[in-house]
Amino acid sequence: MIKINSLPEFEELKASSGFITIVDTPTKSVKVHAASCPHVNSAHYAKKVIDGKEKNGRYYWTETVHEAISELHAEPCSYAGR
Ligand SMILES: [Zn+2]
Repeated sequence: MIKINSLPEFEELKASSGFITIVDTPTKSVKVHAASCPHVNSAHYAKKVIDGKEKNGRYYWTETVHEAISELHAEPCSYAGR
């Protein structure tokens, strides 16, 4: 599991075949998305993590959906597939 700390890192991992978990702190929502999912968006990442200094959430990359579910207690997005 990798915590995504910068926009270039985000862009690189989004282009990978893994999964991206979005932790949304205000709503306490934790969702795992395929890296290619339309919900995984660099503008949202920049706003939430970079501009918000991680106060409103964090993004993590995992190789599998299972890893996100077991380590982050993420719920799979409807696009995540398995
Ligand atoms: Zn999604």
